[in-house]
Amino acid sequence: MKILSFLEKNRITFKKIGQNYVCRCPICKGDNQLHKHNAQINLNFNSIYCFSEGKVYFASDIRSAVRGKVL
Ligand SMILES: [Zn+2]
Repeated sequence: MKILSFLEKNRITFKKIGQNYVCRCPICKGDNQLHKHNAQINLNFNSIYCFSEGKVYFASDIRSAVRGKVL
């Protein structure tokens, strides 16, 4: 599944800024100190890069991280 469809399906909102898609990292979502668009979406790799954590997440990582939580 494409990353954007995946995010949409999981009600993770994203926004297009210039050439890039950004979103709030669903992993560190609960931290209100963080910028609301602290992750960049990589369409080529179907992943997101969280600037706050310096980590790359794929759909499967996000799925297991948010499992059981209300998004
Ligand atoms: Zn994060």
